[in-house]
Formats: sequence, C-alpha cells, structure tokens
Amino acid sequence: MTVLVDQLARLCGLRDRSALLVAVLFAMRGELLPLGLSVLRPIGKGDYARWLTLARLDADDTLPYIEPEWIDIDRLAPLASEPERLACLQQGLPVQAAGSPCRYFVPVQPELDVAAVLEVRTPQPLTPAQRQLIAGLDRLHRNLCSLLDENERDPMTGLLNRKTFDETIARMVLEWFDTDEAGVCSALPSQRLAFSASELERRHRTRRQGCWLGIIDLDHFKSVNDRFGHLIGDEVILLLARMLKDTFRGQDKVYRFGGEEFVVLLRCHDEADALHAFERLRQAVRAHEFPQVGHITVSVGFTALGLDDTPTDAFARADDAVYWVKQHGRNHAASHESLVRDRCIALGDKAGGVDFF
Ligand code: GH3
Ligand code: MG
Ligand code: MG
Repeated sequence: MTVLVDQLARLCGLRDRSALLVAVLFAMRGELLPLGLSVLRPIGKGDYARWLTLARLDADDTLPYIEPEWIDIDRLAPLASEPERLACLQQGLPVQAAGSPCRYFVPVQPELDVAAVLEVRTPQPLTPAQRQLIAGLDRLHRNLCSLLDENERDPMTGLLNRKTFDETIARMVLEWFDTDEAGVCSALPSQRLAFSASELERRHRTRRQGCWLGIIDLDHFKSVNDRFGHLIGDEVILLLARMLKDTFRGQDKVYRFGGEEFVVLLRCHDEADALHAFERLRQAVRAHEFPQVGHITVSVGFTALGLDDTPTDAFARADDAVYWVKQHGRNHAASHESLVRDRCIALGDKAGGVDFF
C-alpha cells in the first residue's frame, strides 16, 4: 500500500502524457502482478484501422514498450483481429475475454477525443477488488489527463496549442532520425521504441523525408469578420478545425497557432505524399459551403524536417512558402523545397516576417 501511495504521489506530479500512462501501468503492475498490461488505441479509418500500442509493460520489463510517433501503420494488427478488445472499445464497457491467459479489457481515455483500451493479462480471472483497483486508477488517470488537456489544448477548437509544439517537434525528429537497431533512441533512453527491422530499413531509406511541417492560413479572413462579424468568424475557425481533424490521420499532429493559423506535423514518404495530404485539405475547404459565409480558401506552405532543424528554422521555411502563396493568388499549397527548386524563393529568404514565440 505504501508503495502504491508513493507511486500515486509521483504520477500526480507528471506533466508528460506518455510518462503518466507508463506510471499508471507501473502502479497497476505493482498491485496486480499481471502477466502483462497494454494500452492500445485505434488509428486509421475503415479497412485501414489498426491497433496502436500506446504503452505495454510485461511482468519482467524494466522499460515500457512504446510505439514510436511515426509507426508504419501497415505492420500493426487490424482492429477486427481482436474482437473482444474491439467490443470493449465500441461499447465503452469492461469485457472479460475467454481463454488462457485471462484477458480483461477496460475502456480508458488517455487524451481528449481518444478512446483506448487497457488490456490486463493474468493467469487467473481478476477478483472484484482487483477490478475495483483498476477502475480507481483509471479514474485518477482520466482526471490527470484532463488537466493536461486543459494545458495543451486550444480551448476554442480542442486542437493542440502552440505551447506543446516545440516539445513535440523535437521528440518526433529525434525518434525518427536517432533510433538505433535495438529501438533505443539515444535522446530518449528511458523507453524502447517498437521499430521492426523493415521499419528501421525504411527509415534509413527515407531519412530526411520522414516528417513534414505545414502552415495553413485562411485567406482574407479579416474580411469574413468585417462582413459577417466575429461570431461567424469563430464558427468558420471551428469548422476548419474539424476539417483538419478529419483530413489528417490519427498520428498526425494538428495545432492552432492562434488566430486563423494552423500547423500540421505529418509523416509522409516523400514530398509528393505531403503535397497530396495538404492538397486534400485545401480542396476540401474550397468545396465546403460555410454557413452564411459561403466559400473560403486556405493557403498552405510546408517543408521537410531535418535532424538539425530547430522548430524556428522549420517554421520559418514553411512560413516563407505560405507568404509566397499569399503573394501569388492564395488558395494553393506549396513546399518550400519546390519553391526553392523553381527559383521562386531563395534559400534563407525571410519573406514571411511572422514572429515565432
Ligand atoms: P490573408 O489572406 O493575407 O491571410 O488575409 P487575412 O485577412 O486572413 O489576414 P491575416 O491572416 O493577417 O489576419 C487574420 C485575421 O484573423 C485578423 C483577425 O481579425 C482574425 N482573427 C484572429 N483570431 C480570430 C478569432 O479567434 N476569431 C475571429 N473571428 N477572428 C480572428
Ligand atoms: Mg489569413
Ligand atoms: Mg494569419
């Protein structure tokens, strides 16, 4: 009990979502002595929906196993391959699976709008007291997560806020570029990342083209406010935020950087893929009939992230690209790299002039 109280006190002090989840699993393992614990969430849509392991802690593990931010979705198990786990997710209720070892599934919510499942594997069925302990730790975890949500989210749209951007970008770039064959990232030694040999091989092949940063800015938004008022303007921002959530995949990160400017971090194989993703958004916005306002457009600038990039450098490149698009007709998506190649802008151009932090 003293150990549990100690662990609870420690996890209340954590401000990192992933570390918090792992601390909850350690506390649970200390009490239940299970064969293993996992937390999985669905990513991808329809036939492409897969189980992503947010954290796994087996009986003898000293380090948790965490799927990297940029996992190859194709190598994950399809949702339908685990019907009991899926039933738990869909019904939002605990499910006890038949068979040995005993598997007990509990719905958990590690993040706003993210439904996940905790899987407890034990040699014997759990007692009512053990189930109660799981429920209690789940409540504690939810409460701490909602505090983190308040801190990390833009209150109007629920998207990530600018504050978390710096931290995430540094972590993503490191995970992508700096993980060895054993799956240990030199900058994040406290976790094992679940890269398979083929994923590592692919990461080496695609190296500097793994992560992309895009800035999306509404066109002539001042005039929307001027003509229809701020409330309608807010409505447009909310609808755009929803389109961003729908357009990009679960593992991509979407931020509201204040005002009507959004930032997306996504993983793509190459520039053409990234252009395709941003074009899909641009076209969806263009085609949408916004209530009262009618049709509006967005301008998009994006760039590839490199290992040596600071968030400021990458942001400045994407911003230069947006600036160029704004100067050349708006309603268009362009990469900084393509604009440099086509000699539209010079490397190191500071055309954008937007303050970063
Ligand atoms: P451009 O095509 O060059 O981007 O033109 P723009 O009019 O969109 O210009 P800019 O991006 O510089 O202006 C953004 C405007 O967005 C300024 C401000 O009035 C409005 N705005 C910023 N935040 C909010 C908000 O939360 N709600 C509403 N309704 N308007 C906002
Ligand atoms: Mg604008
Ligand atoms: Mg703007």
